[in-house]
Amino acid sequence: MADWNFDTQAIHGGFGPDEQTGATKVPIYQSAGFAHETAQELEDTFQGKQFGYYYSRVSNPTINAIESRINAMERGRGAVLFSSGMAAISNTILSLAKAGDNIVVGKSLFGSTYYLFKGLISDCGIEVRFVDPTDTSEFESKIDDSTQLIFVESLGNPKLDVPDFKALSKIAKAQCIPLIVDSTFTTPFMLQAKEWGIDVVLYATTKYICGGGSTIGGAVVDTGNFKWKDSRSKQVKDMAMFGNLSFLSSLKKVRSNAGAIQAPFNAFITGLGFETLALRMEKHSTNALALAQALEKHKAVDSVNYPGLESHNEHSLAKEQFNGCFGGMLTVRLGSKENAFACIDAFKMIRNLVNLGDSKTLAVYPATTIYRHLSDQEREEAGVYSDLIRVSVGLENSQDIINDFIQACDAI
Ligand code: PLP
Repeated sequence: MADWNFDTQAIHGGFGPDEQTGATKVPIYQSAGFAHETAQELEDTFQGKQFGYYYSRVSNPTINAIESRINAMERGRGAVLFSSGMAAISNTILSLAKAGDNIVVGKSLFGSTYYLFKGLISDCGIEVRFVDPTDTSEFESKIDDSTQLIFVESLGNPKLDVPDFKALSKIAKAQCIPLIVDSTFTTPFMLQAKEWGIDVVLYATTKYICGGGSTIGGAVVDTGNFKWKDSRSKQVKDMAMFGNLSFLSSLKKVRSNAGAIQAPFNAFITGLGFETLALRMEKHSTNALALAQALEKHKAVDSVNYPGLESHNEHSLAKEQFNGCFGGMLTVRLGSKENAFACIDAFKMIRNLVNLGDSKTLAVYPATTIYRHLSDQEREEAGVYSDLIRVSVGLENSQDIINDFIQACDAI
């Protein structure tokens, strides 16, 4: 139902009980192919003359149900599920841009996204123009007739800087190009993408959406804001017969050809996470704020970066755009790599692990792990300092998280 609130959509939106059995959880259709009675029926299904399934690299009923629910949460035009967050990003870019085009990208990025843009995407002949995501004028100056899209992270990983979505949306709209936002850190609960003028929102469902760190996945949602008939993209124009579904059709074609669909079992696990997403995001946020405030006072801590702190550069923008929450991610600077390592080694409960969005609190030293291939200057620009620890604050009791961190800082 279109008028349900977010937490209700996350539990009931997109699909109801299974028609044949009444099962309220989506059945796992773990089948590579789907049989048809007649050759004509299979031909019609292939040609889109009749609705149905034929091969799970192309589509699958479990995947479709989970896509419908994600789409309901974003009140979008349609959603497409991927095998990972990276597949969601790469397939989105490849469904909109081709050799000779360029894309304008906020440079505060997750390490693998940066490598994707600098490597595979650039090698495909798509020029990637990096800009400061918080400097709106830089976007304007980099866009030209060959620009196909703007891409930013809703909260830079790990810089935690916040773009101004309304301002970026205005620029994108004036140029008839889509604004694409990786909302992995914010999820549909914190960032109501459609309302902020975002055209395409995507996430690594691996993180908060699935929750608990149990499976890898990604999703892309067309929010319904963009009029695709005005698109500059050749791939979208080639799909003009699908009208406003032309971007989603291009995306599904790339997904099918690249073999990047999510496995039905993983989609089922991802779907379990939706039902508690709102509750979890609130708890991640209150725990992270409590930890950030406690760490700010510790003498071993040089600085704490968290959008919920008034000292954060874009605190008021975060307050305005993120539904009253500030997320579960923060970073801490401890003066040197040795201090950062000593702190991580002293944790008793907090896990030294590269994932994020888990119910467990996780910490990682990013400079020589996730960001090991960046030059010193690139690392500095991405906010990956040599004394920095990135923390994904979990769902444990906040005092236990604080106690573990404080005893680790004391041990430095
Ligand atoms: N986007 C962001 C912001 C991320 O933090 C990550 C992974 O950490 C990804 C995308 C990639 O997700 P995945 O590991 O599922 O491919």
